[in-house]
Amino acid sequence: MTFVDSLNIGTNITRMIDTRNWFETLPPTRQRKLLSSQRNGLNIEVGGQSLVNFASNDYLGLSQHPDVCSAAKDAVDTFGLGSGASRLVSGDSPLFHAFERNLADWKGFEACLLVGSGMLANLGLLQSLADRHTVIFADKLNHASLVDGARLSGAKVHRYPHLNLRILAQQLQQYPAKNRIIVSDGVFSMDGDTADVVSLLRLAEEYDTLVVIDDAHGAGTVGAGGKGLVNQANMMGHARLIEVGTLGKSFGSYGAYILGTASMIEGLKQRMRTLIYTTALPVAVLVAAQAALDIIKQGEVVHVLQGHIAYFLSQTKALNLLPSHTPIQPMILGSDEQALAASALLKECGFFVPAIRPPTVPEGQARLRITLSALHNRQQIDALVKVLLNRA
Ligand SMILES: *Cc1c(COP(=O)(O)O)cnc(C)c1O
Repeated sequence: MTFVDSLNIGTNITRMIDTRNWFETLPPTRQRKLLSSQRNGLNIEVGGQSLVNFASNDYLGLSQHPDVCSAAKDAVDTFGLGSGASRLVSGDSPLFHAFERNLADWKGFEACLLVGSGMLANLGLLQSLADRHTVIFADKLNHASLVDGARLSGAKVHRYPHLNLRILAQQLQQYPAKNRIIVSDGVFSMDGDTADVVSLLRLAEEYDTLVVIDDAHGAGTVGAGGKGLVNQANMMGHARLIEVGTLGKSFGSYGAYILGTASMIEGLKQRMRTLIYTTALPVAVLVAAQAALDIIKQGEVVHVLQGHIAYFLSQTKALNLLPSHTPIQPMILGSDEQALAASALLKECGFFVPAIRPPTVPEGQARLRITLSALHNRQQIDALVKVLLNRA
């Protein structure tokens, strides 16, 4: 008799747990698939078919820009690929600090901290700012990374209906605490609408709270020069404000940044577990983002994108789109089936616009999420709009 036999394990067990039955199987309509696809400039190849991509967050097309790509290649040649350690050990580089300075200056904040991704930024930021004595007030449609960051912090969370500042104010009156934080997306990722940054900061002053704005989709897309929603509201550098953004969208690269006062950023460097206990970004990824910032500052790509948005809006007045002045243009279709059928029709016509379904969006609000890019041209936008109008 072996040792394991002698333990007599498993005699009363009706279902043996192993890795094949750990997760329940979802019904076919709710399953998510990793879509095996290959991007080639503006196009995306899915199942052997080349489609015009209207589903990317690469709003300025910079992931494909020759200067961005060659910056990354040169950096790999010079520095190698992986950074080998956390920034606090030996993974740091003067290039991180230079880019942090440039981003802070461009965005109009005292200081900046680069981290691995937007997800890591929000998990680490909220975990650093808040504990179980903190109260967080969160927009109901905030990105999952903010929802999870709030959870991880242990703070008490009150969610307010999307953009409803009247109810937020009521909650602020109702739930006092020593430390309180209002947390919101800037440009909302699935709706394309925007937070009222000025009013949020006014509430913050009235009720003595901080404000965290995650403008992952606003950088490079909205406001003068694509400086984002906070800049558009002229609230950059506000002492109660922390802004988060990603390098994976308009910057065409990977990574994320946190902007705030110098003391806030220093405090985060001391505390943030998703900075301290994780490998630093590869320098190649970082210098690519720096090259992207240089291109954004020249203004042309942002101008092209903003022109496309205005043109798309002028051509789609007859369509039932959610109100949005950003590159995210959602068309609510209701049921999962309707959204899937519309997506399939667009695919037949050569366009990639996936159906976004619950739980990513609320039940009954399945939609097409159309995103515009500076890489599109008028003909492609016209052709897409024609299909949308014909089916409506
Ligand atoms: C995409 C996104 C993130 C996550 O950023 P990554 O760098 O992709 O991890 C966080 N917040 C918002 C609002 C986003 O849209």
